[in-house]
Amino acid sequence: MKLVQCWDDGVTSDLRLLDLLRAVGAKATFNLNAGLHETGRTLGWMHAGTEVWRLARGELHDAYRGFDIANHSFSHPCLDALPLDALHREVEQGRDELQQIFGRPVRGFAYPFGRVNDAVAHAVREAGHIYGRTTDAADGPFAPADPLHVSPHCHFQAPDFWQRLERARPGGVFYFWGHSYEMTTEGDWQSFSALLDRLNRGPEANWCHVADLFEGGTS
Ligand SMILES: [Zn+2]
Repeated sequence: MKLVQCWDDGVTSDLRLLDLLRAVGAKATFNLNAGLHETGRTLGWMHAGTEVWRLARGELHDAYRGFDIANHSFSHPCLDALPLDALHREVEQGRDELQQIFGRPVRGFAYPFGRVNDAVAHAVREAGHIYGRTTDAADGPFAPADPLHVSPHCHFQAPDFWQRLERARPGGVFYFWGHSYEMTTEGDWQSFSALLDRLNRGPEANWCHVADLFEGGTS
């Protein structure tokens, strides 16, 4: 069974997550906003009483070495509320700058706030992405009718995570997502580490990048 995971927003807690993933040999895709990373680390927002900091632009390339990168727009607006020219700029500039930073093609897109309409999906495809990820939750075998409306099976902290994996098993793909800053306590980190270990012990430990599911798709 293919295991697929992606993480959003390019924050400093990704560094701890990346260490965990490397330790178990798990692949993952990180969805980044090229326009929000500055010369130094910057305070983004508060989550559950904890400061969330974005990584500095200069540390992105090495921090995510070995992992796949997808576009999360240039500056994380609600894309479905933008005029067309601004929409295209957000999508295209986001991809262009990530490709400059990482020196390789950026294949995927994750819609900020999960918000997508026909114009947004069109802009994402036009800019060269082969899939677009929503934040809806698919249930059962993975079979997106449209690669521009891809729904993961669940959030990594979903209470029914393992049941969803079992329901997804006939389709041969299980896909979860989240934000590393949602792990706010040592217990959260230990829970995720245990989840990774349990996934890796099973016969399903065939980690894939999201884009690998769609390579040769709509681009
Ligand atoms: Zn986001």
